[in-house]
Amino acid sequence: DLVAVAVLARGTQGIPRSSGLPDDLFVHDGQITKRPVRALALSALAPRPGERLWDVGAGSGSISVEWALCGGTATAIELREDRAANIRSNAAAFGLAHRIVIVSGKAPEALAALDSPDAVFIGGGLDGATFDAIWARLSPGARFVAHSVTLETEALLGELHQRHGGELMRVEIAHAAPLGRYRSWEATRPVVQWSAVR
Ligand code: SAH
Repeated sequence: DLVAVAVLARGTQGIPRSSGLPDDLFVHDGQITKRPVRALALSALAPRPGERLWDVGAGSGSISVEWALCGGTATAIELREDRAANIRSNAAAFGLAHRIVIVSGKAPEALAALDSPDAVFIGGGLDGATFDAIWARLSPGARFVAHSVTLETEALLGELHQRHGGELMRVEIAHAAPLGRYRSWEATRPVVQWSAVR
């Protein structure tokens, strides 16, 4: 939240330069790309200063914020008004309101009016029609990165990898957590990432 970010920014240490900031620096309702997986998303997105991102289904806007921290601009497209409000708070808390445009609307329809991006992130809920609409808008060299946690989207990413190449990766992260007097690995849902260059 605002206070946490302000403390981090004004403290002697400042905001870390690496992607994968703590989840609790963002206002969110649980729908957020978690820290380690977010770092993997930003690594694949490969932001450079001045580039434009489409963050499709932006949720809390955490991806847009970390992209904009690298010197680019982001358009955060989000269906839900309450989440669009969270994105607005997060952009402001990081001092990035001038670099993040929030589009309250539904992809792919809401994308038609936007300038083409250098990179696209879609953090869930990709379908064939949305992919086709986005891919058609990309210039050669533009990056496309999608994450899935469902078998249905995973199947689509498998097909897209076959058709367009790129890199298909599955990550399964586990965190140490108490188990009685002991500790044990608590698994998170596997995430599949497909990244490709147009
Ligand atoms: N990367 C985000 C989390 C994404 S969760 C973060 O780090 O916070 C996926 C989001 O996509 C949800 O907020 C959901 O409301 C939104 N969404 C799903 N389908 C959509 C669509 N067709 N257009 C716009 N947003 C969509």
